[in-house]
Amino acid sequence: MASGGGNNRNGTHRSSLKGTTTTSTASTDKPLSVNSNPSKPAFKNKSSPLTGASSGLRKSSPGSLGGGAAKDDAGGCTHTCVLMILLMLCWLGPPLCFYSVPGRVRVAVRLRPRNAEESVADADFADCVELQPELKRLKLRKNNWDTDTYEFDEVLTEFASQKRVYEVVAKPVVEGVLDGYNGTIMAYGQTGTGKTYTLGRLGEEDTANRGIMVRAMEDILAEVSPEIDSVLVSYLQLYMESLQDLLDPTNDNISIVEEPKSGDVSLPGATLVEIRDQQSFLELLRLGEAHRHAANTKLNTESSRSHALLMVHVKRTVKGREPAHSSDSGNSTSMARSLRPPLVRKGKLVVVDLAGSERIDKSGSDGHTREEAKSINLSLSALGKCINALAENSAHVPVRDSKLTRLLRDSFGGTARTSLVITVGPSPRHRGETASTIMFGQRAMKVENMLKLKEEFDYKSLARRLDIQLDKLIMEHERKQKAFEVEIERITAEAQNRISEAERNYADAVEKERLKYQKDYMESIKKLEEKWMMNQQNQGNERKEQMVHIAEEVAEAKKLLSKETSLRKAAEEEVDNLKSQLAQLKMSEASANSEILKLRKMVEDEVCQKEKLEGEISMLQSQLLHLSFEADEVLGLQKILSLLEAEDADVRLHAVKVVANLAAEETNQQKIVEAGGLKSLLMLLGSSEDETIHRVAAGAIANLAMNEKNQELIMSQGGISLLSTTASHAKDPQTLRMVAGAIANLCGNDKLQTKLRGEGGIKALLEIVKCGHPDVLAQVARGIANFAKCESRASTQGSKTGRSLLIEDGALPWIVQNANSDASPIRRHIELALCHLAQHEVNAKDMISEGALWELVRISQDCPREDIRTLAHRTLASSPDFIAGLKRLRIDY
Ligand code: ADP
Ligand code: MG
Repeated sequence: MASGGGNNRNGTHRSSLKGTTTTSTASTDKPLSVNSNPSKPAFKNKSSPLTGASSGLRKSSPGSLGGGAAKDDAGGCTHTCVLMILLMLCWLGPPLCFYSVPGRVRVAVRLRPRNAEESVADADFADCVELQPELKRLKLRKNNWDTDTYEFDEVLTEFASQKRVYEVVAKPVVEGVLDGYNGTIMAYGQTGTGKTYTLGRLGEEDTANRGIMVRAMEDILAEVSPEIDSVLVSYLQLYMESLQDLLDPTNDNISIVEEPKSGDVSLPGATLVEIRDQQSFLELLRLGEAHRHAANTKLNTESSRSHALLMVHVKRTVKGREPAHSSDSGNSTSMARSLRPPLVRKGKLVVVDLAGSERIDKSGSDGHTREEAKSINLSLSALGKCINALAENSAHVPVRDSKLTRLLRDSFGGTARTSLVITVGPSPRHRGETASTIMFGQRAMKVENMLKLKEEFDYKSLARRLDIQLDKLIMEHERKQKAFEVEIERITAEAQNRISEAERNYADAVEKERLKYQKDYMESIKKLEEKWMMNQQNQGNERKEQMVHIAEEVAEAKKLLSKETSLRKAAEEEVDNLKSQLAQLKMSEASANSEILKLRKMVEDEVCQKEKLEGEISMLQSQLLHLSFEADEVLGLQKILSLLEAEDADVRLHAVKVVANLAAEETNQQKIVEAGGLKSLLMLLGSSEDETIHRVAAGAIANLAMNEKNQELIMSQGGISLLSTTASHAKDPQTLRMVAGAIANLCGNDKLQTKLRGEGGIKALLEIVKCGHPDVLAQVARGIANFAKCESRASTQGSKTGRSLLIEDGALPWIVQNANSDASPIRRHIELALCHLAQHEVNAKDMISEGALWELVRISQDCPREDIRTLAHRTLASSPDFIAGLKRLRIDY
């Protein structure tokens, strides 16, 4: 069942605590050890693995990091450097140091002596329990002849003193709290079995009766230093799943806050009172009890129905933790020490006086509601379930089922050192409750906790300390700075004095030197002047001799000069003479030039006159031809026509012009044709290479081609071929205009349609359009319109079937392209041509595919000529192909 109690005995306990003594290992009154390692002494022992481990670990802990930094900087650490370290430490935040060791929940059983009532009522009966403290065993009587035996960590008889109970149950836990572990001391048992007696007695009447709470605080206060450590207490009651503050009764619904990462539980709403002496703690307990009583009266319950929790937060600064192997000396060591943050240990002691563990059926009979009993037992049964789960190492521990288990999550299966005292009464009447209490204790003994030491570096206090140090350094620095400035001022003044003295000395020396040099200079000047005077005297005699010599030379030079002057004059006269001769020559040359110009002008006038006369001659010649033609029409005409073949090109040109003029008049046309003029004109197109002749002849042919009979003649004499050859050689657009005009006239002949097309008339027109001249294009358009009109007529009459020859010869793209030409003559002819083509369904498909449909739509809407507009509209509306095309192109018509 329970692990061997003997193994857990430990005779060593805290000798430093006031009023405690070291008990012998042989004594039966041994304290209850919480050291889980049976072969090693308890944690207080200096050589214990726990203490040893922590000091060993500390060398590589962040604490030693702080020491290292200080060591490096110690030599030249200025206040700036201190500041930087401070900032660095603020950045790092307080590192936590955890050292874990396993620690099972320790369980002691305490038997209450028979009370007066039991002494009377159970006088004839033996107790239901029998204790064997030396064996740490409890025997529970089943009946007169049978018992169950249970082992506990400690078995406390009815004679066990409060002091002894404290030492075995609570003291190791309290020591742990002082060393930085969390600790829990909890009493469990039926109402009236002595839980409150064990934990909460104040011992005012007799100090020997002081319970665990009072004794624990005595030990804590004896151990802490009021200047640097702190002890804070809160006191609470848990009743019907509501947590009330016993130090502030208005605060009756305190919430539990769990830190998700660390699992730490805190009660931010609970009152925390700092305890500095035992008296104030006793007052706090009294106040808590009074409030508990008042609250229970108000709630119509008893303290046995609620759970009481005392929480003591102990924060201690650990002293005397120097690095063991510091080789630094003097300054650097003290600097390292000053930069090491103090080590702080935080332990929390929780003392829990649970509500009575008796069964609901019994408690329900005494006037309290079933709900209340359930609620009390909700927390207790939840605690039981958690302990069962932990004892059996279940994967799930239902900690969250009640507030009690949430509050105690660190006590069972957590990091706290936990000691449980189960209280039982002797009465055989309560055997059932006693048995269930014993079973609870047995299961709790199986719960294993992981004790964790919570140490952290107190950077705040380090920062405060460094702040003070920094202030001191700054003050020292300022003082030195001031002294330094005074010294500098003194040295500066002294230097200034020395400089002015040196300057004065220098000025004196310079002045002296200057005067000396001035004197020397004056003397030198004087000497030089004397010397100069002497020289002047010597030089006077020499100069006279030189003057005589010079005068002779001057006379000689004058002679030479007069000779030269007379020679120059003679030369000048010669030059003047030559100049006047040259001027005369120039004058005669100018008069010769003007004579030449005059002659040239005369020649030009002569040429001009000749040209004029020639023009007049040719005019007179043509007039003469005309007059002779008029004088005798036939004779004259023949004469003119014969001149078309004259040798002289000019004559031929004049003759063709005359014929063309004659052909322009309708009355002459028949005569010209009959006299063979048409033939000659056509021949001239073929024979002549002169484009003017071509142009005039084509014009004449075009005039003649207005007559239907002539049209047939032109065609029969190879006119189309001659005209298209002429067009292919033409450079002048006017030539092309005449050729196109002639073909256009031919296009208007119904009978000649096929022949015209066969001889390449349409192709010739499409060639001519390349020239691009609007006058030419207008003639082509007219020809096409004529052709289309005749074709349309023939189709209507039934003499023509199949597609338009215009389409066959590829005229449609040009037609569509020019249908909306800016030049109105072109546009007008083409619009007409399109309407004629559209008349016949056979052309519709080609017209649609070449884009003529768009143009027809436009013509039907925009054409200024109403008849064409109407024609176009009618055609579109009546042609099934066009209607389908419009639909396909989504033209809303
Ligand atoms: P509980 O808190 O478990 O309900 P109490 O601590 O109130 O029980 O104890 C009930 C009664 O028994 C009290 O009068 C108390 O003084 C007395 N009592 C309990 N334990 C002892 C003990 N070990 N020695 C003497 N009297 C005790
Ligand atoms: Mg009680």
